[in-house]
Parts: sequence; structure tokens; C-alpha cells
Amino acid sequence: MEVYLDYQSSKPVDPRVVEAMVPFFHENFGNPSSLHTEGDAATEALTHSRETIAGLIHADGDEIVFTSGATESNNLAIIGYALRNKKKGDHIIVSEVDHISVHNIAKYLEKNGFTVSKVPVDRYGRIHLQKLADRVTDRTILVSVCYASNEIGTVQPVAEIGAYCRERGIAFHTDAVAAEGLLSLDPAQDGIDLMTLSSNDIYGPKGLGVLFVRKGVRLSPLVIGGGQERGLRSGTENIPAIAGMAKAVEILHEEMTDEVGRFTLFRDRLIEEIPSRIPRCYLNGHTKERLPNNAHFRFDGIEGEALLLRLKAAGISASTGSACTSKTLEPSHTLIATGLLHEEAHGSLELTCGRFTTDTEINYVLDTLPGVVEGLRKLSPLYKE
Ligand code: PMP
Repeated sequence: MEVYLDYQSSKPVDPRVVEAMVPFFHENFGNPSSLHTEGDAATEALTHSRETIAGLIHADGDEIVFTSGATESNNLAIIGYALRNKKKGDHIIVSEVDHISVHNIAKYLEKNGFTVSKVPVDRYGRIHLQKLADRVTDRTILVSVCYASNEIGTVQPVAEIGAYCRERGIAFHTDAVAAEGLLSLDPAQDGIDLMTLSSNDIYGPKGLGVLFVRKGVRLSPLVIGGGQERGLRSGTENIPAIAGMAKAVEILHEEMTDEVGRFTLFRDRLIEEIPSRIPRCYLNGHTKERLPNNAHFRFDGIEGEALLLRLKAAGISASTGSACTSKTLEPSHTLIATGLLHEEAHGSLELTCGRFTTDTEINYVLDTLPGVVEGLRKLSPLYKE
């Protein structure tokens, strides 16, 4: 049996999205910057898709900038804001549990004259506003905190952070990729100035990202050229992908409530039954403030990579954490930030379900995982019952 429980790393494109994209490769292939009939049709598709995608977050079409993915959106948000607003200050705050792209952007800014503080989290991976407030100075211009962790699924107190930043005139960026399609997102209501989204995270094609830029927020562009996307991101827009993402949003409008209900049941079964079937297995992340599709565990005496390989042999695709850092030998920075020791962080497993997950798959994992863990523990000189 083949089981895929790694929806956080990659999602299949919904077949309805593929169907919506096809005409834009061949029949409707125009460049939206052209003035002829084909160009007009592309412009119409672009405008319509932009409005639809903005609707996902209750925003206006002219607050949406298309990019090549979440990494680029994070770059444009953080570097673009820092460069444009450096006269106001040179201090930026990010969180300990943000995606590696945000951490590396922060390092880049540090090398280029900015100072960066990292706000810590509690053992569930959650930020406390006071810890953020303790790091704010009169030079702080931007706070960037993920909406939810792509690893342990902990959801941050985003509205609280937004209100705090707004009161002090500090811009607030959130990478909402992990929460997209799972939680209802409303940047205007939550005091968010900049929000990163990605197409694949809602079953659209890869290689397309979005940056929500609230009206009035000024950024320096990082990709300079013909001035597309209101000069914020030059280059011909990827119309097939954009039309695909718009279709993915339409599907969510119809189906998100039901599917999130389904994911929650799957997640809760995993969270209740895995620790009850496997001794010395602990949940990582928050028990309540948690993404509805995320179950993340730590097993004493287990090495995560070995566990993944055994699961792979049993037909189960899962993850130890972020795919973006899986090729390094370093333990997850997110788990370390929650206070785990290196060896504890190395013994973790992330299971994320999605649109095509079935009861049969969940049952198979619940039946297979205990034997796999037991087998590995028998081989481990470190594990004592
Ligand atoms: N932010 C988060 C929270 C992510 O999980 C990812 C990876 N899916 C990214 C940013 C980077 O996305 P991409 O590789 O599509 O640019």
C-alpha cells in the first residue's frame, strides 16, 4: 500500500486546476503587456485571477503581487521593506521558528548593515507577546513572524502581534504558507501589512507565489525590469500558473470547511492513537493552537532518518520536518527552539494529511508505525525499556 502523509512538503496539483490551466498554454497564450487581442485576453485572465486570489484573504486585487514562490515573496517582503524604509530604522525582528528562507534573509540583512533579533518561543513553539515587546527598540521597522510553523504546526498569536505592531507603527510581515487553505486568513483584520502565500500549498502549480502588500506599504523591488506588478516584480506574469491558483482558490471557497473538518479528524486520530500504541512517544507542538492537518511526534531512542527509510520501505511517505532543510545533518531549528536536545530533535516524525488522504491510509499508518518503531528500538544500543 502507498500512503502519502507529507502534504506540508508538497501537494499534488488538483486535476481541476490542471484543466483550468491548459487553455493558457495554447489557445490563450498572450502576454498581458501586449496591446493586441491575445494580450487583452491575457490581461483579462490576469485581472480576474488576481481578484479571485485576493478574495482568499479578503484583500483587493491591487494588493496582490505575483512572484516565483514563497521564498521570493519572503525576500521581497523583508529585504524590500528594509531597503525602502531604512531611513526610519535598521532593526528587524524575526521568530526562532520561521522558515529557513526567513532566517537566511535575516542573515543577509545583518551582513548589509541591519540588526536582527530573534524572538524565542515556549516549549509548544508559541511566541509570547511580551518576549516580542522586549526586543522592540526605537530602531525597529519590521516584525516577521510565520502564521503557523510548517514543521510542528503551532499557530502564532498573529492578531495580537498585528495589533501590537500597528500601535507602534512597525510593519508586520507573516509567512502564511503553512496555514493557507487550512485557516481563514484576513490580513486587514489581523493588522498584517505583508503576507506570503504560495500556489502549491493550495493544490496549485509550483513556482508561483504571492505577496500581499497592504495599500500604502512601500517596498523596494528586488527584480528590476519592465515594471510589471506595479513595478514591484518585473517579468512577464506566469498566466497558466496564476489561472491555476485562481481555480485552486475557487475550489477552496466551496470545499475548505468540509475538508478541514476531515483533516481534523485524521489529525486527532493520529495524535490520540500513536502515543497510546507506542510507548515513550510525545507530541511536538501545541495541543490546541495547531494546524488541523499536522501531527508531529518525538520517539525516545529513534533516529528520524532511519525511521523515514523504514517507513518508505513500508510504502509510507512522511517527513522529519521541513523538506527545505532535510539534506543537512543539523537538527531542526524549530525543535531546538522549543527546548529539545539535539538527540531528541533527531527522533522526530511529521505527518501531514491533505485533500486526497483516506481513512485507509490513516489506518495503515496506525497499524504499521508501532512495529517499525519497535524494530528500530531493538537495534538501538541507547534505548532501554
Ligand atoms: N515558507 C514556508 C513556511 C514553507 O513551508 C516553504 C516551503 N514550502 C517556503 C516558505 C518556501 O517555499 P518555496 O520553496 O515554494 O519558495
